[in-house]
Amino acid sequence: MASNLAPQDLENLQLRAVRYALAHGLLYLPPGTQAAIPMSAIHAPIALFPTPFPRAQFERAKSLQSTYNTLYARIALDTWFLDEVMGTERGVGKVDDFVGKLWTGWKALRDEGLHQVRFIVSISDLCSHMVRPLHLGLFRSDYLLHVSEDNNVSIRQVEFNTISSSFGTLSQKVSEMHRHLCASTGFYESSPYLQALNLPPNNTIAGLVEGLAAAHTVYDVPSSQILFVVQPGERNVFDQLWLEYELLEKHSIKVIRLTLDELSSCSSVSSINAPLFITPLSTRGVIPIEISTIYFRAAYTPTDFPTPSHYTTRFTLEKSKAIKCPSIPLQLAGGKKVQQVLTQPGVLERFLSDEAHWGLGSSSPPEVISELRASWMGMWGLDVGGDDGVNRAREHAMNLVLKPQREGGGNNVYKEAVPAFLDSLPLEERQAWIAMELIAPPKGMKNYLIRAGGGESLVEMEVMSELGIFGWALFGDGVGESEGKVREKEVGWLVRTKGKDSNEGGVATGFSVLDSLVLV
Ligand code: ADP
Ligand code: MG
Ligand code: MG
Repeated sequence: MASNLAPQDLENLQLRAVRYALAHGLLYLPPGTQAAIPMSAIHAPIALFPTPFPRAQFERAKSLQSTYNTLYARIALDTWFLDEVMGTERGVGKVDDFVGKLWTGWKALRDEGLHQVRFIVSISDLCSHMVRPLHLGLFRSDYLLHVSEDNNVSIRQVEFNTISSSFGTLSQKVSEMHRHLCASTGFYESSPYLQALNLPPNNTIAGLVEGLAAAHTVYDVPSSQILFVVQPGERNVFDQLWLEYELLEKHSIKVIRLTLDELSSCSSVSSINAPLFITPLSTRGVIPIEISTIYFRAAYTPTDFPTPSHYTTRFTLEKSKAIKCPSIPLQLAGGKKVQQVLTQPGVLERFLSDEAHWGLGSSSPPEVISELRASWMGMWGLDVGGDDGVNRAREHAMNLVLKPQREGGGNNVYKEAVPAFLDSLPLEERQAWIAMELIAPPKGMKNYLIRAGGGESLVEMEVMSELGIFGWALFGDGVGESEGKVREKEVGWLVRTKGKDSNEGGVATGFSVLDSLVLV
């Protein structure tokens, strides 16, 4: 798609792209921004051209999202399953300190009474209430195109994110930027596909905010606000701010942004299942603000918890009756280990075979199950069958990626690095890792990448692109017509493009750029 444009045409296109990005909030804070009030911003890393993608595969990825939303909601509600897979007795929590701490905190809250029957007695009325918290998921299911041995091209899932799924808003802005470049210049005419009708709409901002607003509405306290839990020094702040603005402008819902550090001194929950109140410094002495929904854009990585008190704060938020996005069980459900366990015979059936009760779209369960399975690569645990898992990984190293239970990029081990890594991996830590077959994306795709902040020339390179589909799910008791029904929706998409030889795909970690699609 990156065409044979003359250097001055490319420069002109870059100028238009960068101007559009700067003018429309497609931005990052510059590296090293420390000041409380930032003085400047830089544009996010972007691709000059949208990436060609088979229309049928794009539609397929979108149509799978509803089932994934429901699947992960049900996993989060299946306490027995999460205890087995992620707990500290038999699961990954036994060997992975971070997973173990989250699970232990959640278990302690369950023992204290979270999720359990509570009796409320009043003078005029004697009634019992099942107090089961609601959970909100803002999900992103990630895919790469895979070229099979018989040259069939179809999507394969990389992973499913249940916490801090980012770049929803900036991806919408990139789609709009490519649409602008298409409409405003003749340069895109070099390809017959580069026409507005082949650029799919992307309304992720409204879609994600609809999920947050649905949770806020169900909480049903008009004076309450939504809490964004953020990382100190976050550079990808504009991606979050667009959600905040949309919540206020379209739904009249206010947002408070605080770090775990700040929350440790200004949040309070009087007892388990009680409301969460925030008294921000600026309003000390004024009435505390009740929180309807807690949206985590932090707390997904161990570095977000530098001290034990950061965990204490996380568990205080969890024990409140505010709707957590995600709750700890929903965060644990997004673990790579869960993704691998789902590939074992019978596990998907555990969650998706009762279609009549749950009402999954129009597809019947066997159909839904085989559609999901068809989008997966082979996976296994390194701890299976004595040394079998490790031996198999050594044998297939050049076709493998090993993954621990981490998010945010930069944690995996690839191909030729696998054998030495396995040599150094202590026996007891095997359980924390999964092996996954490598997806083989189409070759020969080229694009021009503009690094964050620009100011340098375009880099043309052979690339691969990862598609993410966003969805939300609101679930627990009391949502929908019947108990256990999941309210959910597919709400938009993201494309990240990177050099084909770079293993990792994180935009925030500097490996890739934000992109959009042209359907072919
Ligand atoms: P994280 O939660 O850290 O984002 P991922 O599972 O998404 O972890 O892995 C990070 C990156 O590694 C992906 O964005 C993708 O570029 C690459 N990757 C992961 N799994 C595969 C795979 N099976 N085949 C090819 N590349 C992969
Ligand atoms: Mg990822
Ligand atoms: Mg992830």
